[in-house]
Amino acid sequence: MTRRSTPPTLLAVTSILLACSVEGERPNVVLILIDTLRADALGAYGAGDAASPNLDELAARGVLFEQVIAPATWTKPSMASIFTARSAARHGVRLEEHALPAELTTLAEAFASAGYRTLGVNSNPWITDRFAFGAGFERYESTVGIADIVNRTALAWLEEPSQRPTFLFLHYLDVHAPYRPSPAFFDVPPLRGPAQGRLPDAVLEERYRKELLDGPHVRARVRALYAGGVRELDAAIGDMLRALGSRGFLDGAIVAVTSDHGEAFGEHGRPEHGQDVYPELHRVPWIVHAPGLLREGGRVTDVVSGIDVAPTLLSLARVPIPDGFEGRVLLPLGLQRGDERPAITVGGLSRHAPDRDYVGVVWRNHLFVRERATGTAELYDLEADPGAREDLVATGAQSAVLAELAEIARRAEVVSVDPPPRAEIDAETSRQLEALGYLDASPAR
Ligand SMILES: [Zn+2]
Repeated sequence: MTRRSTPPTLLAVTSILLACSVEGERPNVVLILIDTLRADALGAYGAGDAASPNLDELAARGVLFEQVIAPATWTKPSMASIFTARSAARHGVRLEEHALPAELTTLAEAFASAGYRTLGVNSNPWITDRFAFGAGFERYESTVGIADIVNRTALAWLEEPSQRPTFLFLHYLDVHAPYRPSPAFFDVPPLRGPAQGRLPDAVLEERYRKELLDGPHVRARVRALYAGGVRELDAAIGDMLRALGSRGFLDGAIVAVTSDHGEAFGEHGRPEHGQDVYPELHRVPWIVHAPGLLREGGRVTDVVSGIDVAPTLLSLARVPIPDGFEGRVLLPLGLQRGDERPAITVGGLSRHAPDRDYVGVVWRNHLFVRERATGTAELYDLEADPGAREDLVATGAQSAVLAELAEIARRAEVVSVDPPPRAEIDAETSRQLEALGYLDASPAR
């Protein structure tokens, strides 16, 4: 293993570093992964004060990355990237039956090698131990439950005494479809359907996702249901952080919150995720709270990637970074001058879009999109057009930028590893996926 040097300069963050903690004592590290969380669904990213008060407070006391690109727009390839700090072309995990290659060192393995107790609770059937995502965890339990089950599982484990520092991975699926917030977090009378009285939300959102029922009122309602789910999960995570704090687990700890991908609400004609690589799917949050290591309220404006999460957390914990990690160390000092690089995201090749294979490049305020099956290319100016609505390829503008990003995308598409191992999608996994709406997806997605 090698240790990378800490970036010596600072671009977007000033004076984040406060002091090194006591040498020799390694901190507990908590990585909270909120599946399917758009960045703009959080108050700290502009959704309003009531959207996510607990996570907003964490952001106010920590560092927030303003422009985080998901390495992929559905769970399995993105989580493979987050766990191995590699882009999709360097881990090869793209298909539903793919498993994480054993030869790629994971974040949990790096913590385990440094003497950490490694505990993971996961809620997504695509990243169970069947697909080798439990690599490096002493305990890796996959639930099908809601946040409360994730929290109770982890808290029960932490009752067992340990002299070692702990890496705790908490994966929450609560804001993933179906969008069914509790009445305590969303209590608005249902929409009135044409000639059919009130349309129950469960019926509305299922028809929206599966039958592509559409219209401004439908979209607004479904988006509000999603926001209700975010508020509900935010409260559950707040409860968890308070429970961990009351046990002393967070004393000197590093807590990071991020997501594997966003969620579409018809911005480019389709619901949910995985089907393309537009901003509603590739923009995710990333917050790091590390009192004593990071100054409160830091903001990083550089474009960064989910592959940067693992090396950054290891560096903050003073744990050696494994060979082969492609991501960069971004804290405590921010991005090293000259270390700016394009962020790559991929989409498609899942059952929401089995015949589509997208690569997206975010670089110099532009988004380049190529779809390999059709050979189409698109370019968007994210500064003037943050939602990526006006394709500049069609207008012939920005030809120099187009050529540069097209070349970056071409290089990013070259897979540099052997095909990953495959695991059978068993009946139990299929049943869990069906509950999430995967198995009966509309071909339009
Ligand atoms: Zn996901």
